[in-house]
This record gives sequence, C-alpha cells and structure tokens, in this order.
Amino acid sequence: MPEFIPVIKKDDIQRQITRIAAAISADYQGRELIMIGVLKGAFLFLADLVRELKLEKIKIDFLQASSYGADTVSSENIVLKKDIDVDIRGKDVLVVEDIVDTGLTMARLIEHLKRHDPNSIRICAMIDKRERRKVAVNVDYACGCVEEGFLVGYGLDYAENYRNLPEIYHMKL
Ligand code: 5GP
Repeated sequence: MPEFIPVIKKDDIQRQITRIAAAISADYQGRELIMIGVLKGAFLFLADLVRELKLEKIKIDFLQASSYGADTVSSENIVLKKDIDVDIRGKDVLVVEDIVDTGLTMARLIEHLKRHDPNSIRICAMIDKRERRKVAVNVDYACGCVEEGFLVGYGLDYAENYRNLPEIYHMKL
C-alpha cells in the first residue's frame, strides 16, 4: 500500500485558484478566451478555475497527450491522443495543464497549437515543477511550485487511480 503525504490542502488549492482566476480575468478582460484543458489530469483544476473567471466569452476544449501509464517518470516520446475541435485561428488561447515537469509535453502541445495560428498562447498549470525542466517552457499562471516527488489527487493519477482524492498528496510507493 503506498503512503500518501499531504502536499497542498483543498483550502490552499481553492485560495490559489481564486488568485490566478483574478489575474486571468484582468489580463483577458473584454476578449474572448479559448481555454484548452490537457486531459486527463487537469479536469478538476479546469472545472474549478473556469467557474471563478469573470469573463463574458469563454470557450472550452481539450487536448490529450500520451500518459505515463503505470510509470512515475516522464516519457520523451509524446504522442497526441486527442486534438481540439474549436477553431483557434486568431484567438487568445490559455492551455490549462495539471503539472509542467520536464516541459516536454507542454512544448509538444504548444508547437502543435501554434500550427493553428492563434493570436496568443499562454500556459496555466496547477503545479510548476521547475527543477526538472529540460526544455524552456514559461508557465504564465501557476497555483504552486513543488520541487520533487510524485503527486496524486485532485485530478492527478497513478495508473488511473487516486484522481478523486480532494487534496494533492506526495505518493511514496
Ligand atoms: P513533462 O512532460 O512536463 O515532464 O510532464 C508533464 C506530464 O506528466 C503532466 O501532464 C502530468 O500528467 C505528468 N506528471 C508530471 N509530474 C507528475 C506527478 O507528480 N504526478 C502525476 N500524477 N503526473 C505527473
């Protein structure tokens, strides 16, 4: 049985979401925002974030990249499993990800989205794990930074389990 050590409590997640939602609302005031959630880990984060935004025009879509499976280390071979349906040409796009770690997944997704010619692309991540970054990816909005450890809960899985946990835990196998 793995050990679960609490890292970010539900109240703290909510407080951070309120903080970044205010920043995003101010930055995109009067503009249409296309939010692209990265499946599956960002589903709870996106759901909570979008309900706090004070913007009139928001569209939501999803992308999915290949996952770790039952592994806890990043793969360098990132495959796009699900593409977006909305037209982002000339639009302002905010990619909403659970964790940016090495940055390889986000760099691949951004490269893909840029081919659709959006007006702008920014990145919002629940957790920014900067210490392990391999490619330059700038996270514009983040709830928090974590230095190390494999995290589960609040959408984050290990082999598809634990996404339903209400807080974020460091999982020790
Ligand atoms: P990267 O390509 O930046 O190394 O990894 C990004 C992806 O790996 C994220 O989309 C996320 O799904 C997954 N990931 C990175 N760190 C963790 C972690 O601590 N826990 C879980 N559950 N997934 C992680």
